[in-house]
Amino acid sequence: MPLKKIVMHWSAGGHNANSSDKRHYHEIVEGDGDRVGGDHLPEANNSTSDGHYAAHTRAFNTGAIGLSMAAMSGAKERPFSKGKYPITPVQLDVFVEMVAEYADTYNIDITRENVLSHAEVQITHGVKQNGKWDITWLPGMAKPGHPIEVGDHLREMIRAKQVEIFHEDAPIMAGLNMDKFSEKLASHIGEFLKSQKA
Ligand SMILES: [Zn+2]
Repeated sequence: MPLKKIVMHWSAGGHNANSSDKRHYHEIVEGDGDRVGGDHLPEANNSTSDGHYAAHTRAFNTGAIGLSMAAMSGAKERPFSKGKYPITPVQLDVFVEMVAEYADTYNIDITRENVLSHAEVQITHGVKQNGKWDITWLPGMAKPGHPIEVGDHLREMIRAKQVEIFHEDAPIMAGLNMDKFSEKLASHIGEFLKSQKA
């Protein structure tokens, strides 16, 4: 099966990628923003029948890339405690960029079905995950949110990052003459203001 999905995780470990993280994820972002490759290439998950693949999500590894942030060791969902190794802002920023890159490389659309957190897998695809709550908390949140809402927020960040890093390829920008565009925009705004006065 070609790679059609990306599952986003935190490792429930410390801020450094350890050997277990490398076994289970295709790539990991550490607390300081460093990226660490896993033991398996994403293509290893084209098939899982040979036993050589990154096992990151229960019964959901075939055709699925597993990307992770090394964080959240000792964190508790209820009552919430982020523990000593919470996701850091720089780690999240690099992670979002990494997911954007993988989605671009493997031509995966940023949808709820295809690019989702581990916590969304059971809700969106009905594959039981035994209480996994990664990723329902992000830096700045007082407590975990609904998996889909946090997932939607992550997908928004990933889309914005794709526009930022691949803007020259984005269809919306391709062949657009920016001077003409500004001119048009200015005239639209002028007309709008006129219509408001009338
Ligand atoms: Zn996970």
